[in-house]
Amino acid sequence: MKKILLIATGGTIASGYTEEGLAPQLAVEELLRYVKEYETFCSVDACQLFSLDSTNIEGEHWLKMAAAVEENYDAFDGFVICHGTDTMAFSAAALSYLIQNSRKPIVVTGAQKPIDLPVTDARTNLLDSLRFAADDRAHGVNIVFGGVVIAGTRAKKERSKSYNAFSSINYPSIAVIREERITFYIDDKEKLSGETVFYHKLNERVLLLKLIPGMDASVLNRLFPFYDGVIIESFGVGGFPEYGEVSFFSEVERWAKAGKIVMAATQVTHEGSDMAIYRVGRLIKENFGLMEAYDMTLEAVVTKMMWGLAQAQSIEEFRELFYTTVNHDILFV
Ligand code: ASP
Repeated sequence: MKKILLIATGGTIASGYTEEGLAPQLAVEELLRYVKEYETFCSVDACQLFSLDSTNIEGEHWLKMAAAVEENYDAFDGFVICHGTDTMAFSAAALSYLIQNSRKPIVVTGAQKPIDLPVTDARTNLLDSLRFAADDRAHGVNIVFGGVVIAGTRAKKERSKSYNAFSSINYPSIAVIREERITFYIDDKEKLSGETVFYHKLNERVLLLKLIPGMDASVLNRLFPFYDGVIIESFGVGGFPEYGEVSFFSEVERWAKAGKIVMAATQVTHEGSDMAIYRVGRLIKENFGLMEAYDMTLEAVVTKMMWGLAQAQSIEEFRELFYTTVNHDILFV
């Protein structure tokens, strides 16, 4: 029988009603009591790593989750991390960069409703996650939620209340789970080679800045001392405004000369950026070697930048790391 480690971090799945509103309260052992059916297909050890609304998750928590998997890696066949849904896509992407090339599955899950309510998605999601983590075909970091398995770098929370909260962006779902059956759409475990690699550092001096019409580029000037990398969520396939006394062009140049990263991404969820299409994108890209996120999710871009900045010694090395595909995160380079 497969041995799974269940790592609890809080979230709605473990929440109860308090005078101040919903907050994580249930311990990991209590979660398990609601999904006893798992005993027919796996054994589970439980670990309470912390108990947070995922709004309060930071880089240090991603490192702790990765460390919990690393410390127990040899003793278990798979891992399930219970997590709040609000920042789950960021955590799954961060874990995809911190734990690479894993032959063992690391599943991130949670729920829109607490597990102790009579009507809830929590029991199905947790049971599906344990089932997936115990499957021989499963590997790497994935979100299991609402009957769908999504690569850890491709998930986005697109619905704030419905049970099908997460979508796989610009990439197919890895699998679907209906009742007890897992149907894989991407069944690629045999393609893995080499060792599992754990990373232990992130650089959190990363900012995501959303353009709005009329935004003044001098905002980049003011933010300059605080960040090593900025992702600018631009419009459509990508471009930066040309108006104003302080131009985006000169600010991008200033950041690039200081060895900082400026990355263009799009605020459109589906289909990605392509800065080469319009003059407003192509000129700045060609002149300053501006990087762009193409088909990646913003969650993946943010966390890959944090990971890449912590590993790379130069912009060239960062560029190479960033454009190397990890857990299906980028196709269109
Ligand atoms: N605020 C909760 C959290 O992210 C929402 C949830 O888990 O669904 O922890």
